[in-house]
Amino acid sequence: MLDINKIREEFPILGTKVYGKPLVYLDNAATMQKPRVVVEAEREQYYTNNANVHRGVHYLSQQATEMQENARVKVRNFLNAASEQEIIFTRGTTEGINLVATAFGSLLKEGDEIIVSEMEHHSNIVPWQLLQQRQGVVLKVVPFDDNGELDLQKYAEMFTERTRLVSIVHVSNVLGTVNPVKDIVSVAHGHGVPVLIDAAQSVPHFKVDVRDIDCDFLVFSGHKVYAPTGIGVLYGKRELLDKMPPYQGGGEMISTVSFEHTEYETIPYKFEAGTPNYVGANALGIALDFVENIGLDKIHNYELQLANYATEQLSRIDGLRIFGRAAQKDAVVSFLVDGIHHLDMGTLLDRLGIAVRTGHHCAQPIMTHYNVDGMVRASFAVYNTEQEIDFFVAAVKRVIQMF
Ligand code: PLP
Repeated sequence: MLDINKIREEFPILGTKVYGKPLVYLDNAATMQKPRVVVEAEREQYYTNNANVHRGVHYLSQQATEMQENARVKVRNFLNAASEQEIIFTRGTTEGINLVATAFGSLLKEGDEIIVSEMEHHSNIVPWQLLQQRQGVVLKVVPFDDNGELDLQKYAEMFTERTRLVSIVHVSNVLGTVNPVKDIVSVAHGHGVPVLIDAAQSVPHFKVDVRDIDCDFLVFSGHKVYAPTGIGVLYGKRELLDKMPPYQGGGEMISTVSFEHTEYETIPYKFEAGTPNYVGANALGIALDFVENIGLDKIHNYELQLANYATEQLSRIDGLRIFGRAAQKDAVVSFLVDGIHHLDMGTLLDRLGIAVRTGHHCAQPIMTHYNVDGMVRASFAVYNTEQEIDFFVAAVKRVIQMF
């Protein structure tokens, strides 16, 4: 059994009042709140261990370097990657995908094909469209049905001899669908095609094992897993990363530079140009420790319990429609109420102390699928409670009465 009250004490922000009402924070898929240990780790490093990494022989620089590299090992263990060289620190999911679209993408030719899905976040659509403009690659889109499940039959039929990459979301940030990534990878590998997994909404909630999935790239954001903003991870298989040219040029990513010729560093540094967010990297390592100390399986079971409870309660409300009914679904509930605009619902819930997401959730093709311009989304983390869901559901009912 998790001691949720004890966990909540680690998050000072949860004690905030909003318009005099206790905050009910249900916007966790957008960003999670940070536990004390993470905030303290950042503060502590600036107070005691701050120096640029990899550049100095001096004590502080060596310490800061060691802290960053320890964090890399923690991420490797968290994802079960084969080597820490396969762990590249980025700004987040978006940068990870842009890195692959730019560096791996530069190896592609006009007419080469990339498969994405209809339920992608914009960050797994627009980088490929930019590549399309630069290099004339073709984007193919796997559709989903009204329950929010991908059409895997159509997916399997999309491969041609020009298919070069599949880039698919693990858990939809709108529908909560948990896509069968192992099967998706296995089909792609059957055609010799590598797969990138957008794990922004899976890594924070359940065990993601890159070697079990056998994906070729995987990206996630620190801020969605209790860590600070501005730090994230790209996992890539060594043989692919080695073949890819650098993403950005600058310090840290070279071994020698002259005006005639520059030699690049080996991975992961080849992809980490400039002073990295070493303080964020260390804090990410601390956030992953925090998650592991509680236990990812326990977190997952608890969050699913919350999501099921919320779904049951909301389903009883007349005129309320829930989007995303996949058999495998994670802790996200998106909905609309007949006759009430999502922005009005979100604004009025906010006045009652409830923080939910409204709008297109950076996934406009999903909105187009359902012919709506936005939805209201509640998403859960380990510090949420059934009592908060009761407040939330009561607040939704109160808003409905206002119309
Ligand atoms: N992919 C998914 C599924 C997401 O939910 C998000 C953020 O909401 C992103 C990508 C983008 O993450 P970031 O803005 O941290 O780069």
